[in-house]
Amino acid sequence: MSAHTPPVAWTSAIFFALSNLAALTLVPWWGLTQGFSGAAWLFFGLFLVLSGLGITVGYHRLWAHRSFKARGPLRVILALCGALALQNSIYNWSARHRVHHGYVDDVERDPHSIKRGFWHAHMGWMLRNWPASRADYSRAKDLTKDPVVMWQHRHYWTLVWGLNLGLPLLLGLVFGDVIGMLLLAGVLRLVLSHHFTFFINSLAHWWGWRPYSDENTAVDNGLVALLTWGEGYHNFHHAFQGDYRNGVRWWQYDPSKWLINLLAWTGLVHDRRWTPRFKILRARLHTEFRRLLNADAAGPMHDTWRATVEREYQHFRDTVNQWQQVQADNMRAGREALNDRWLRTELRTRFKELEYRLKMQRRRLRALSACHRTPSASA
Ligand SMILES: [Zn+2]
Ligand SMILES: [Zn+2]
Repeated sequence: MSAHTPPVAWTSAIFFALSNLAALTLVPWWGLTQGFSGAAWLFFGLFLVLSGLGITVGYHRLWAHRSFKARGPLRVILALCGALALQNSIYNWSARHRVHHGYVDDVERDPHSIKRGFWHAHMGWMLRNWPASRADYSRAKDLTKDPVVMWQHRHYWTLVWGLNLGLPLLLGLVFGDVIGMLLLAGVLRLVLSHHFTFFINSLAHWWGWRPYSDENTAVDNGLVALLTWGEGYHNFHHAFQGDYRNGVRWWQYDPSKWLINLLAWTGLVHDRRWTPRFKILRARLHTEFRRLLNADAAGPMHDTWRATVEREYQHFRDTVNQWQQVQADNMRAGREALNDRWLRTELRTRFKELEYRLKMQRRRLRALSACHRTPSASA
């Protein structure tokens, strides 16, 4: 250990050691010797879903990023589900998460920087008193105005004990399987949901695709999305953190987004924020251009190829400039309260046309990068 390694955070270290050890030894041993009741399995599944969604929909998308608004009763339910996940109070979690976005990959300031390695980003950051992992409350002043957040913060430990120990105990008594309920709905569920969330900090900054930005380590990883109710599309999320969606394509697995949409339909959720399609396309193309323009190869074929890429890039910049112009016209029309139907339709048409242009350009770029990869092109 170097002289700069901070002291061990004993409470967390002992807690994680014991809970993981129990999940690896006690749970299978009890299952093999005594067996678990159906009720214990049922509540294991239910608690896994509820605590997971409490973090993704509540802690992350509602409070840390304010990507939509939710009515009081829903906020209370999400705060309870989040306390069940045992990942600190909303206030602490959100303050730290906002620092992660602000200083991603900065070894000194990102609370769980992947630059210190996979293990540090996964769990290591909680096992020692790293200065970077201290919550910076100046980043969460807005949350102090939410009574649900402050109530959960004040009564956090009561809620944690009540939901993680009291509730499984009670359910165990009702269904006649106290140990089974404590081991499955309590211990195993907690340990699994912890690691699933931790994968967002480790695996989703480590292994996957970077279609929207290559300026940080965040990646899109479908496997992590599968384990975390849709949070695996982390490259998109770091590029557009205010968007209530993480899986933005229709085929991507993002049940948190689906739930938010369903709740919006019932009226419990409102004011969802999302990124205009053009901006998303622009980010994808921008990343592809960076890659193509940085690709180095030599030869006469390559010169023509490079010239084509540069010409395409010029087209791209023209389209983006025009879009900014239409955007300005649109804002002006809004400010001057121009409710002219012709003008509105005209602006919408122009937006659509520019979007289509980027879409077509993406196809051409794909063809260009394919011919760059074939050996004959650079021979
Ligand atoms: Zn991240
Ligand atoms: Zn985030």
